[in-house]
Amino acid sequence: MDSGMTMIPKPPDRGLEQEQFLKILSREEALARFEAALFPRAIPSQRRRLADALGAALAEDITAPIDVPPFDRSNVDGFAVRSSDISAAGEGAPVNLVLNGETIHCGISPRLHVATGTATPIATGGPLPRGADAVVMVEHTQPSGSDAIEIRRAVSPGQFVSYAGSDIARGEALLRAGTIIGSREIGMLAACGVADVRVARKPRVAVISTGDELVQPGEALAPAAIYDTNGAIVAAAIDENGGEAVFLGAVPDDEARLEAAMRGALRDADMLVLSGGTSKGAGDLSHRIIGRLGQPGIIAHGVALKPGKPLCLAVCDGKPVVILPGFPTSAMFTFHDMIVPVLRKMAGLPARSDARVSATVPVRITSELGRVEFVMVSLVEGKDGLIAYPSGKGSGAITSFAQADGFLRIDALADQMPAGTEAEVTLFTPHVRVPDLVIVGSHCTGLDLVTAPLAHVGLAVRSIAVGSLGGLAAAKRGECDLAPIHLFDDRSETYNTPYLVEGLVLVPGWRRMQGIVFRKDDKRFDGLGAEAAVAAALADPACIMVNRNQGAGTRILIDRLLGGARPEGYWNQPRSHNAVAAAVAQHRADWGMTIAPVAHAVGLGFIPFAEEHYDFALVTARKQRSAVQAFLHALGSDEARAALERAGFRPA
Ligand code: AMP
Ligand code: MG
Repeated sequence: MDSGMTMIPKPPDRGLEQEQFLKILSREEALARFEAALFPRAIPSQRRRLADALGAALAEDITAPIDVPPFDRSNVDGFAVRSSDISAAGEGAPVNLVLNGETIHCGISPRLHVATGTATPIATGGPLPRGADAVVMVEHTQPSGSDAIEIRRAVSPGQFVSYAGSDIARGEALLRAGTIIGSREIGMLAACGVADVRVARKPRVAVISTGDELVQPGEALAPAAIYDTNGAIVAAAIDENGGEAVFLGAVPDDEARLEAAMRGALRDADMLVLSGGTSKGAGDLSHRIIGRLGQPGIIAHGVALKPGKPLCLAVCDGKPVVILPGFPTSAMFTFHDMIVPVLRKMAGLPARSDARVSATVPVRITSELGRVEFVMVSLVEGKDGLIAYPSGKGSGAITSFAQADGFLRIDALADQMPAGTEAEVTLFTPHVRVPDLVIVGSHCTGLDLVTAPLAHVGLAVRSIAVGSLGGLAAAKRGECDLAPIHLFDDRSETYNTPYLVEGLVLVPGWRRMQGIVFRKDDKRFDGLGAEAAVAAALADPACIMVNRNQGAGTRILIDRLLGGARPEGYWNQPRSHNAVAAAVAQHRADWGMTIAPVAHAVGLGFIPFAEEHYDFALVTARKQRSAVQAFLHALGSDEARAALERAGFRPA
């Protein structure tokens, strides 16, 4: 393999005056400066055999070296003829042609001239003999004695003939530099006899995660540690965009070790991508080290993006060095928006062309003025087209990626996107896949047990957690099939039914036992009922509670038990059952209220208090849809009921 270079042209000059590095730049300005510091540059390339070129980016324009087909070729099995001989042929006027003494198979050069009044048998792919200008299909002829045929229809000149160069003409541009070589391109190259091509060499991109708290997947999670998510996701995104990622692991927040790792990475790699440590916090070192690694150093530190403000872009002696924000979703958005364009250019690839669709936003989305904001959305089919639900759970939430179908962009100059906006959604996948069944409302782990068999038979189920009231609103607008709710009505002292409106019917789900959780070794709660347990907690000023958010069904129960008291911890109001259990298990609180299955999963003590009804508001107009029927069937099945019971729920 020899190597060579292709030039990427210099981007338009944006006036690169020196500016203070720590100033926040607009995303356009930051990207322009980054590109200006990197391009023009040579893209290393190499020759590869066709069989090894799949997926590579072509580094040269390829011109067809020959005509394809190389000769005038028959497209059918039949007889090579002179069209003028049979121009008068018809049903009532058959024409007889005498057969020449050869048959032209594929790969056989004809020897005999087709003279007036004669025909030569020819196979599909055979070269047309001298004198002939058309082919008659064998189906349109009759033998006439042993050495002649009878023809009852005319042919036009050129019929069933592919002329030399009609597919690809010698000298024609076949493929352009930057084309990604797939099976179709390989086929075209093979047809022209091209055995090897010059392709861009993939840039080697070193990836380093930073942070004392990081543990690699597969290792045990120590207290206060988290799994390194960015290492895996950034490496995969590099490979997806034409690079060759070399993951070097997570380095603790130690200046000397980090500098050694960065220097080592830059020796072998064409580019370095770090994550974490870029906010300007005490342990945030990477950007300080960059200044010592090469010229010109930091190009932008702070970009008006959300998520992703602390992004740091640098160039050290010609190599891009990037520090992505630590939060995985921030890291991913900034990587795709700001780094992918540069990486693809270095890899000789064209810019990404992600699929986009237009969809209505059903709720108002607030946005920070002055920053371009990316909001992940889940798509569902509404009455008049697609609906895009914001599915982000904050910049730290990685699971939003799995829930989301794509993202929308809110302009830096907007402080909100009003409900009802028709927005452009950039898809994460090549096509929209609208789910077969859409469940919007309160989430419960029991729901997964009911929908599992649906997924197994190939139905796409989308469940979007927006709380009971959000689900009811979506159901009223007809944006979902079912809204799981658990809403207690004080006046009637019943669950859910009082909240239904016309067009919705209640499908009973299951009961969830709510109760007090505490650590099993905490003697203060030993053997007590719920009321007595709360009284014991209130009697001890050192006893800290964990509450729930306003509007949660659980919160209504807690407030009833507290009877107006506001003990320490009251203002700690997480939004989920699991967070309550984690707070108690990790000693940040001593008691709280959650559901039995969650308490048991974490090994906490549990004092039952009240049973909550988790039911479904079914949109009547959508009841006959087959996915809805499948859900209702699954919900009533013995399997689902048994699975719910095993998990600690009581089917209704
Ligand atoms: P930092 O910028 O280092 O302060 O990180 C910001 C947040 O992102 C912190 O909560 C970090 O724990 C988290 N974080 C940093 N790096 C990673 C990583 N590689 N994987 C997952 N989370 C990370
Ligand atoms: Mg860190």
